[in-house]
Amino acid sequence: MKVALIAHDKKKDDLIQFVLEHRDGFAKHELFATGTTGRRIMEASGLSIHCFQSGPLGGDQEIGASIAREEMDAVFFFRDPLTAQPHEPDVSALVRLCDVYTVPLATNVGTATVLIEGLKRGDFEKLQGKRPTYENK
Ligand code: PGA
Repeated sequence: MKVALIAHDKKKDDLIQFVLEHRDGFAKHELFATGTTGRRIMEASGLSIHCFQSGPLGGDQEIGASIAREEMDAVFFFRDPLTAQPHEPDVSALVRLCDVYTVPLATNVGTATVLIEGLKRGDFEKLQGKRPTYENK
């Protein structure tokens, strides 16, 4: 599975802690991240992560493009709901594309816990055939 990891600045420590707690689960997958999040998780965990640009510099859009190419299976995006982000349109676009392509998305540690347990259990196989197909307009 291809898994994306993103955290806004005030949520980075939470995501790092979460990945460390579930390191074995994440280690089985191909990991991608926005730049700063990815580098910090790699430093803390030793996991190998493909880092895109930093989020405000286009990283969220790069992950969105992966979703649009149907090359991303799950997204862990620890958003900061209490701080305005300069790249809010990119954040909204990424969340929207997860819904367009039925990509499971966790935006807080609650849904992330359920999602990682589902990943470990193989629940993603149940999604086969459930993803919509679109004709180009
Ligand atoms: P960052 O980007 O991992 O490069 O900090 C995350 C974001 O703010 O979208």
